[in-house]
Amino acid sequence: MAQPSNNSVGVDNTFRRKFDREEYLERAREREQKETEGRKSKSKGPPVQRKPLKHRDYEVNLQSRLGKTQVVTPIAPLSQQAGYFCSVCECVVKDSANYLDHINGKKHQRALGMSMRVERSSLQQVQERFEHLKKRKDTGSFTEQDFDERILKQQQEEEERKRQRREKKKEKKREQTAEEETIDDPDVAALMGFGGFRSSKK
Ligand SMILES: [Zn+2]
Repeated sequence: MAQPSNNSVGVDNTFRRKFDREEYLERAREREQKETEGRKSKSKGPPVQRKPLKHRDYEVNLQSRLGKTQVVTPIAPLSQQAGYFCSVCECVVKDSANYLDHINGKKHQRALGMSMRVERSSLQQVQERFEHLKKRKDTGSFTEQDFDERILKQQQEEEERKRQRREKKKEKKREQTAEEETIDDPDVAALMGFGGFRSSKK
């Protein structure tokens, strides 16, 4: 009757890895050396100076392909795949939100030669910008009147949509009552197989 604990005496049954301290120290030294060499070779070339972030000088048209029908095959070139194609990065993003994220993102800006850093504007630059915007306003490309007109137009369009919706509802109701009236006719009701329909209505 040997007890199990007696069997393991003097036997390494821990299954732990034994670490050779010297070997790992050597490896660490090698790695360190490689890293410092890598850093040196990287810093050899002149550091890439990317321009600070600039605002877009064009309007993003997210609706250029709205309502169009197009056959999409997996082997078609990227620019003809479903979604938004970025010609700078040659990639496709699935929807407008992601496309905006993409063209505002780091990867895209980097491809355009810009860093994500924003230049700090001087007082003079701010003043010039104000002046520029004021001039643009004076030339009438965008006035308060334009704004009012746009709001009015939107309100009218909204009214029109509401009106059409109401019209549709009425139309539906009319159709329904017409149907019921037909069924009210005892002959038709009998024909359709529910003669008792009329009494339930009263
Ligand atoms: Zn891009």
